[in-house]
Amino acid sequence: MSFSSLGLSPAITKLLAGHNYVKPFPIQREAIPAIITGKDLLGIAQTGSGKTASYVLPILQQQIGSIKSKNRHIKVLVLVPTRELAMQVRDVFHKFSEGLPERIKTMSVFGGVSINPQMMAMQGVNILVATPGRLLELVETNAVHLSEIETLVLDEADKMLSMGFAEEMQQILAYLPKKRQNLLFSATLNDDISKINQIVLHNPIVVKIEPEEDYFDLIKQLGYFVSDEKKGPLLRYLIKQKEMKQVLIFTSSTYQADLVSDKLRKHGINAGAIHSKKGQNARTDVLAKFKAGKLTVLVATDLISRGIDIKFLPFVINYDLPRSPKDYIHRIGRTGRAESPGEALSFVTEEDKHHFKIIQKKMGKPVTMIDSEGLNLHGF
Ligand code: AMP
Repeated sequence: MSFSSLGLSPAITKLLAGHNYVKPFPIQREAIPAIITGKDLLGIAQTGSGKTASYVLPILQQQIGSIKSKNRHIKVLVLVPTRELAMQVRDVFHKFSEGLPERIKTMSVFGGVSINPQMMAMQGVNILVATPGRLLELVETNAVHLSEIETLVLDEADKMLSMGFAEEMQQILAYLPKKRQNLLFSATLNDDISKINQIVLHNPIVVKIEPEEDYFDLIKQLGYFVSDEKKGPLLRYLIKQKEMKQVLIFTSSTYQADLVSDKLRKHGINAGAIHSKKGQNARTDVLAKFKAGKLTVLVATDLISRGIDIKFLPFVINYDLPRSPKDYIHRIGRTGRAESPGEALSFVTEEDKHHFKIIQKKMGKPVTMIDSEGLNLHGF
């Protein structure tokens, strides 16, 4: 099956080939034709499934031809939970807008940076990608008008609710025109998401993409039994022994993320941290460096385990285990994506043993365990 058979115009399919998008992924096969015809859609899909392009492409197609030179208001609103995801989704819109016959302007707005430049740049924006809080600020100061929105996308809707954005989402919905197309994407379908569906969607097409059975086979999973005191030496040992050039490390708190990153730097390893207590410019900067391969280690909290697409990430390390099996899957899903193999390594202390068993049970796959006592950590 090709992209052109999904109803996408030659202008768009030509661009896809240039970006090595040869065959549509399953979610794209189902979502693109439905969105083009104007239907509401509920997409249950994990990050990595190709869900961003599944709405970006048909939305761009809808916008071509409907852009009027004097249009003043935004037509498409994409709500996302995190600033990093806002920038990433904006970049996908940019990537596929370049070379289109009409200029379609996409902008992202999020908190943590000054609001004034965002207000000034709002002129002529067709597609706005936003985190809920900053969007409300812009609406309340009249910098953004949502009265002509034709398409609303809620991306990573479950994450938005778990981050406590339910109230902001309701406030935003109240500003939108009643008649519009609604697209809702979520990794899971829980009770809260079902409630939002009922409010937002009308007779939606439902697309559910189960992670492929062999998806986790792409990821080599290993667990290391280790004491708390030995986590640092074990980490440095693994970075050296496995010759890691790019590794994402998850910790349980912002404090711990800084601590691990500082310690690595003291040992001459090029590391940086990203979490919610960092200023936005620092967050953007460190992520860009890591993505570009200029930083060996990025230490993160679960803030960026969702949605962020880093190409060919070979290693993920759970320095601290995540609280839920669901988070474990999101974290290790950062590696082994788009058919490139990766390794996910988890540090398991005595207290974690039971919890890690539960995680493995949920995964349906046992993880090979290594006792770090048997490794020569001397000198690390
Ligand atoms: P997403 O789930 O939207 O974060 O996408 C995951 C990754 O798959 C991104 O790096 C996309 O660029 C890539 N991707 C999405 N659709 C395709 C496709 N049809 N062909 C090749 N790569 C794709």
